[in-house]
Amino acid sequence: MNKPLILIVEDDPPIRNLISVALESHDYRALVAANAGSAIMEASSHNPDIMLLDLGLPDLDGVEVIRKIRSWSNMPIIVISARSDDSDKIEALDAGADDYLTKPFSVDELLARLRVTLRRLNQAQNESPETAVFVNGPLRIDYAAGCAYMREEELHLTPIEYKLLCVLARNCGKVLTHKYITQQVWGTAWETNVASLRVFMATLRKKLESSSDTQVYIQTHVGIGYRMMKVSE
Ligand code: CA
Repeated sequence: MNKPLILIVEDDPPIRNLISVALESHDYRALVAANAGSAIMEASSHNPDIMLLDLGLPDLDGVEVIRKIRSWSNMPIIVISARSDDSDKIEALDAGADDYLTKPFSVDELLARLRVTLRRLNQAQNESPETAVFVNGPLRIDYAAGCAYMREEELHLTPIEYKLLCVLARNCGKVLTHKYITQQVWGTAWETNVASLRVFMATLRKKLESSSDTQVYIQTHVGIGYRMMKVSE
């Protein structure tokens, strides 16, 4: 694979330079944009592999940038946001962002997020959308048969748990908000569903993780949502 091209959208010059230098010294190519207008222009003319997007931009809210980009592109977007703004992160994820980084973050953290996203991207390119089987380490979901297996042993899931597992699997590597998940599973995002989501998630996780050593499949993002992690074999 060629060096991945990352578009850095950040209006703060020192942070922008820091990210760009860090990426270039770790085998990435970096493109930069200091505002929403040039971010959209750079994204459409260079088609970067991943966009790193600061939410607080001078000309337009970062969430609006995500909505615009999502009208024509599925490029992964990792949002960069301040610590106190969970609601901003949720709004950004619901608008179509893939992941988020909280300021201040370390270069290691940034590199780790990029690796997760690239892995997901490569996997998505190797799978057709009609793929009837999902495999993540020892976990296998046979969508056509409506069954899930761990190390070739069928998991006994309730219909809701199975639906939940499929929503997570179809978005493996991506952070999903409570609202998104409940909408997918129940068709609505009522508060009562968010509360039951927690319960169903706990039982699903127990079933996945008790039968598979110590692999962590489901990551909790407190106050935000959940993500299925790609696990090793
Ligand atoms: Ca900013």
